[in-house]
Amino acid sequence: MTKKIAVLPGDGIGPEIVAQAVKVLEVLKADGMAIEMAEGAIGGAGYDTAGDPLPAATLELAKSSDAVLLGAVGGPQYDKLERPLRPERGLLRIRKELNLFANLRPALLYPELADSSSLKPEVVSGLDIMIVRELTGDVYFGEPRGIEVRPGVDGKPERVGFNTMLYSESEVRRVARVAFDIAMKRGKRLCSVEKANVLECSELWREVVLEVAKEYPEVEVSHMYVDNAAMQLVKWPKQFDVIVTGNIFGDILSDQASMLSGSIGMLPSASLDENNKGMYEPIHGSAPDIAGQDKANPLATILSVAMMMRYTFGDEASAQRIETAVKAVLAKGIRTVDIWTEGCEKVSCSGMGDAVVAAMKA
Ligand code: NAD
Repeated sequence: MTKKIAVLPGDGIGPEIVAQAVKVLEVLKADGMAIEMAEGAIGGAGYDTAGDPLPAATLELAKSSDAVLLGAVGGPQYDKLERPLRPERGLLRIRKELNLFANLRPALLYPELADSSSLKPEVVSGLDIMIVRELTGDVYFGEPRGIEVRPGVDGKPERVGFNTMLYSESEVRRVARVAFDIAMKRGKRLCSVEKANVLECSELWREVVLEVAKEYPEVEVSHMYVDNAAMQLVKWPKQFDVIVTGNIFGDILSDQASMLSGSIGMLPSASLDENNKGMYEPIHGSAPDIAGQDKANPLATILSVAMMMRYTFGDEASAQRIETAVKAVLAKGIRTVDIWTEGCEKVSCSGMGDAVVAAMKA
């Protein structure tokens, strides 16, 4: 069956990095994979062309595709727009419209880049963690929420701000299943992170994870409080295989974990719905400071295509073909400027794309 992919380059370096990922898809296509790609505008580009950061045509395209490849959105020229028109709103809306509830963020460090991490090379070299973050629930969406006037500690009226941490069993169950399925394809170890010693919401989270665990007897499950997890991630991150956690804890821990791996230009991500339809994007933003200079690192976006092959299309061979090509390029000492070190060959964004394509064909 033809794989329908919506390609949404977005703003800043988005078009440059996405063009390199498209080259990789073209290699797969030339080798016989039935792929149909169609481009749409999102973010600032959507506002510029259609007055909307998520134009109706783009949403339609995304909904009718099997997977979405996204570059990045945003730029200083859009910062003064009203909130609903800002590029980031387009991104939030597309995630919600596609019901992408499971966010997969690998924290992976290629041994060749161990020196670019702020942690000691022996602590991070060969690091390979997958963080599965719930993306559509928790305190970010729970009701009631707001700011209102109530009696303060001294009894006098004052403003209070409040949010609700809330998870239903079914929300926990579906994200837990995604995490267990991933653990089955990796090291078969899953660590569920919450704060069950203090929060009822976490207590329920733990109970449901334990129930789902019965469906996966081969997976070794552990539970960790989020404060300890934050500590363990910098102390000995290689103890983790797959981590599953709620929206707010995952937001913080996945950013922390991304820093273990040195460069923001290396890390892909996936956001999946119930049927493994997914949106794939680098974790970084639109990098306006280097946009249009052909020097951004396209590897995070190229590795997002590998994730797309693995998680939406179940094509492990193509995923590994792309990942092996990236490893080969790094092993040869080919680097964009953000990961360049003395003695390596410096290449442009398009030069890196060409190097990965050449390695895939080798
Ligand atoms: P950023 O990730 O765009 O950039 C941070 C720093 O990392 C910059 O110095 C940039 O040059 C560098 N960088 C990022 N990606 C790189 C790459 N592939 N290769 C080499 N260097 C790279 O974050 P920011 O500067 O805080 O935000 C810039 C814009 O991006 C803002 O408008 C922000 O809202 C938006 N943003 C979008 C997303 C997204 O689309 N998912 C995520 C974060 C930020």
